[in-house]
Amino acid sequence: MDRRQALTALLGAGALALQPAMSHAAAGDWRQGLLLRDRFIHLKRPQSKEEIEVCYWRHGLGWDVKGYLAACHLMRDVKFDRQHQIDPVLLDTLYIMQHWLKAYGLPHEIQILSGYRTPEHNAKLEGAAKNSMHLQGRAADVHIPGMAPGVLSNMAKMIGIGGVGLYQDRGFIHVDTGPVRAWQSKKRKG
Ligand SMILES: [Zn+2]
Repeated sequence: MDRRQALTALLGAGALALQPAMSHAAAGDWRQGLLLRDRFIHLKRPQSKEEIEVCYWRHGLGWDVKGYLAACHLMRDVKFDRQHQIDPVLLDTLYIMQHWLKAYGLPHEIQILSGYRTPEHNAKLEGAAKNSMHLQGRAADVHIPGMAPGVLSNMAKMIGIGGVGLYQDRGFIHVDTGPVRAWQSKKRKG
């Protein structure tokens, strides 16, 4: 069963998937260390003034359905009030970023500026990619107060999961779970 099938099973039948969401990290590397424990994530959504601190994955048990769904809700399209499954690997990316920053005593308040985006919403955004990963619940635009976007993008690239876009002048980075790639832009919306 692959990740998506597992997720479908999870959401459809309430079954617990046993595979870790993220399989990129080899045993023994620094990311794996973070993944071998309960995965708590603390997210803020400035647009809707929401904030959650949830566990979405219980080490040795699997999905914490309540926590996972709370994260999906927070990362919904707030403007169009529509929710979508969020790729668990995206949550793992945010989780690793947050706990890495925390471990080094750095600011780690993750603000989600954009998560899932409806096609209608995406079409209205000037410069947004037509096939944006936001449409599949596989991308997030992230701002962390007190952290330079350039530093964050380097960190996200180091995690090595998917796409990383740097939007220096707008103060955020885009992370997604597509192919590994990186870009920098002052105009295009992620
Ligand atoms: Zn984006």
